Amino acid sequence: MALPPYVDSYYASTINRELDLPELQGEHSCDVCVVGAGFTGLSTSIHLAQKGYKVILLEGSRIGWGASGRNGGQAIIGYNNGIGALEQRFGLDDTRKYLEFVLEGCQIIRDFITEFDIDCDLKDGHAGLATSTRQFEAMKHEQAVWARCGHDDIIVKDGFGAVHEMVGSDNYLGTYFDPNGAHLHPLNLACGEAKGLLELGGQIFENSRVTRVDQTMNPKVYTNYGVVNAKQVVLCGNAYMGELVPEMEAKLVPVSSFIITTEQLPDEVAQDVIRKDYGFCDWNYILDYYRMTADQRLLFGGESFYGGKEPRNIAQRLRNNMLKVFPQLQDVKVSHSWGGNFAITYSRMPDVGRLKNSNIFYAHGYSGTGITTTHIMGRLLAEAVSGTSERFDVFERVPQMPMPGGKLFKVPAVIMGSWYYLLRDKLGASRK
Ligand SMILES: Cc1cc2nc3c(=O)[nH]c(=O)nc-3n(C[C@H](O)[C@H](O)[C@H](O)COP(=O)(O)OP(=O)(O)OC[C@H]3O[C@@H](n4cnc5c(N)ncnc54)[C@H](O)[C@@H]3O)c2cc1C
Repeated sequence: MALPPYVDSYYASTINRELDLPELQGEHSCDVCVVGAGFTGLSTSIHLAQKGYKVILLEGSRIGWGASGRNGGQAIIGYNNGIGALEQRFGLDDTRKYLEFVLEGCQIIRDFITEFDIDCDLKDGHAGLATSTRQFEAMKHEQAVWARCGHDDIIVKDGFGAVHEMVGSDNYLGTYFDPNGAHLHPLNLACGEAKGLLELGGQIFENSRVTRVDQTMNPKVYTNYGVVNAKQVVLCGNAYMGELVPEMEAKLVPVSSFIITTEQLPDEVAQDVIRKDYGFCDWNYILDYYRMTADQRLLFGGESFYGGKEPRNIAQRLRNNMLKVFPQLQDVKVSHSWGGNFAITYSRMPDVGRLKNSNIFYAHGYSGTGITTTHIMGRLLAEAVSGTSERFDVFERVPQMPMPGGKLFKVPAVIMGSWYYLLRDKLGASRK
């Protein structure tokens, strides 16, 4: 059967893919069957293969077809609500662990890039931009929590001078610079990781959507044309897994976010708009995020729609948002626009665990900041599968619950909840 296409994105138009992967047919056996070839599934599979496990990775569409191959490419050191919010909820000891985990996640990306020789335009540095004094205060608080966790490398500065060192926009009051963060071409990272997995002896099947998993100690995983007998299974389908396991689906709401890229910018325009080659986002609840691509296009993302729907005129809306930040791009054309779904949990922390009475593990619901977290999660899942779950447990003990409102009303319930935060944005309050 023909492979489903990638979404028509800037990433798909600049993909480095040297993979020819089969569809699952017939009966196969392995130690661990991993479902979903986004960053969670790829990182899990690589870490398991490195430990000597025989791994089969099943992808319903193509490598990186989901959020992992469509996102803003910003490797952010943090979680949905920032590190500062975690200290209040979980105390300093666990907050330090969560911070160390995301730092390790970013290091895993760098290690994979080196080990598998992946060309994915990695650039170091990430910056947050404050649109209000309250957001700037939150930045200073975040910096203080990092320092209490033993890291003093966050640089927070106020004033237009500091902003204009980084971006050519008058929209911001201050900057929050994290040298540990990065930005990159996520689809090329995913394809490079898939090549790395094959080199380690893992098997990958594309166009092989899992339709059923037997929830037992010897799970069987079924697709339309094949079956895998596995000792253990790891489910990594995130916002695209649908109702394969209803109890997992109940804890998530899919959220769509959207991105445009401009045409290639002349040097003087590119250097005026992005003055330091970092990934950027503001600190609003519904945030703008942007960065310069390797071939000098502004990649600008934002907007959030709950329930995974794509509204009409989204490219125009994003272009308007971009022009509010960078009016100097008025005459620049948009080359691509696309969207994708990520998944949020009620806690806004990833939901991880093991399904009852089974050898089936899962991790999902990174709530918008997943590039670094998925990579550490893959390592933690591999540790848990191999019987060492001490570090995995730090995430497993985050209280999680089904989304309020149940199957029918969870999306409207989340939309109503978001109005409060949107109002706070309008009033200049912080999301932290
Ligand atoms: C537009 C957008 C912008 C974003 N920007 C950023 C950003 O800049 N920085 C950041 O940190 N995070 C960002 N995110 C979030 C981040 O991309 C995700 O958190 C992360 O990629 C999730 O990875 P994943 O592997 O868990 O899920 P996915 O990448 O969605 O992968 C899941 C895979 O599982 C497959 N699958 C699902 N069900 C089945 C099944 N039954 N059988 C087989 N395969 C199945 C899907 O086809 C898919 O390929 C963004 C997300 C979006 C949508």
